[in-house]
Amino acid sequence: MKATVVTYGCQMNEYDTHLVESQLVSLGADLVSSVDEADFVLLNTCAVRGKPVEKVRSLLGDLRKVKAQRPLVVGMMGCLAQLEEGQQMARKFQVDVLLGPGSLLDIGAALESNERFWGLQFKDELHAHIPPAPTGKLQAHLTIMRGCDHHCTYCIVPTTRGPQVSRHPDDILRELDSLLTAGVQEVTLLGQNVNAYGVDQGARLAGYPTFAELIRMVGRSGVQRVKFTTSHPMNFTEDVAAAIGETPAMCEYIHLPVQSGSNRVLRRMAREYTREKYLTHIEQIRRHVPHAVLATDIIVGFPGETEEDFQDTLSLYDEVGYDSAYMFIYSPRPGTPSYTHFQDLPREVKTERLQRLIVKQKEWSARKNAAKVGTVQQVLLRGDAHDPAFLEGHTSGNHPTVVPKALGADRPGIYPVRIGHATPHMMYGQILGPDGQPLPERPRHTPEAAALSSPLQMA
Ligand code: SAM
Ligand code: SF4
Repeated sequence: MKATVVTYGCQMNEYDTHLVESQLVSLGADLVSSVDEADFVLLNTCAVRGKPVEKVRSLLGDLRKVKAQRPLVVGMMGCLAQLEEGQQMARKFQVDVLLGPGSLLDIGAALESNERFWGLQFKDELHAHIPPAPTGKLQAHLTIMRGCDHHCTYCIVPTTRGPQVSRHPDDILRELDSLLTAGVQEVTLLGQNVNAYGVDQGARLAGYPTFAELIRMVGRSGVQRVKFTTSHPMNFTEDVAAAIGETPAMCEYIHLPVQSGSNRVLRRMAREYTREKYLTHIEQIRRHVPHAVLATDIIVGFPGETEEDFQDTLSLYDEVGYDSAYMFIYSPRPGTPSYTHFQDLPREVKTERLQRLIVKQKEWSARKNAAKVGTVQQVLLRGDAHDPAFLEGHTSGNHPTVVPKALGADRPGIYPVRIGHATPHMMYGQILGPDGQPLPERPRHTPEAAALSSPLQMA
């Protein structure tokens, strides 16, 4: 069987795609990169906003036409699969396999079945399952928990992914070990709310560390770099900031979604913290991690958001001085409390506010990135940039970075780079040698240069 998985949405979905792809390979499937070559197409879906849902609907429509012309098995997994909205789509577009986020390990049973297979249970076996390490990659995701116990009024995730279940620390450390053996240098710990790790449905689990303790344990494993996402301010503790500060492997990139700077909106979102409390966490982070690079998520145009509320978000942005932000227009999702109880704002109001927020974000990113010019950053270089004379990667602060290929830096890895130029979205620099001077650039456009570049092109 030739199979392909098309992934929408967050890093959690990327992790699940890797897990399911590994299962498919162990079942004897060949993974192919395009839908045209495949006889099994599996869509790993996202239901957090309306746009990714519409993308899935459109691809399912195309696949139904293909199915009319040749044998093709179509599957749907991820958040949308768990919802009535997704199941209606699955019926309409003749989806053969439907796997909710808790039933991914049913993929084998689904493919063996001669009938339509729908798996929508949340199964415990998933939490102990350890997918094989990705081969040849320097970066990997590592899920430490699934589901979410919060009930933010705009969010569909607690419905699609169920209540929070923390993975046992032994399973996490075993998976980490296999990633390190496979050569992974940077690991991103994943969960909807990593700060609540070890406390499921309000109860602390015996034998589980806190998230701060888990950071310290992971830091002792020998991994070079660790990041995490997502960190909910409600469960953030100063000990998490302290653990980041004292653990050399922890990246200085810290993503702490605020969603809004207005206490009135935060209350309507049921975020369970105030602007003042959030700023206390920022102060703790800055104290324990002096070079912290701060990122956030912001939703603009939440129902009932006034111009004054939006001004509070803009002023909070200035007060924190974020390095970057993921900015979203509020998207009403059927099944969420805000969809049921609140009136959506006009589209023009939401888009106009987003434009103003983007201007603010660009100003701050430009200012923050410009301050890095002249500094030396440790950059994880993954492989060729768009222009193959250059390599791309990212700093420990998660800044996308591009450097010219250099002699003596032949393998993907973490290199010191002096930043020479920065835009709001990109940094440019040169790889430094052991003497602190830039390594000579590789000659371009010659057969020798092409030959020399091959190891990194493989990355
Ligand atoms: N658990 C994370 C937290 O609480 O910070 C967030 C996970 S959510 C999948 C990722 C981001 O999507 C959220 O931080 C929020 O900004 C955005 N989001 C979620 N629901 C949304 C909605 N209905 N409309 C717009 N953005 C939304
Ligand atoms: Fe959604 Fe809130 Fe849970 Fe994050 S914490 S996944 S935004 S309900």
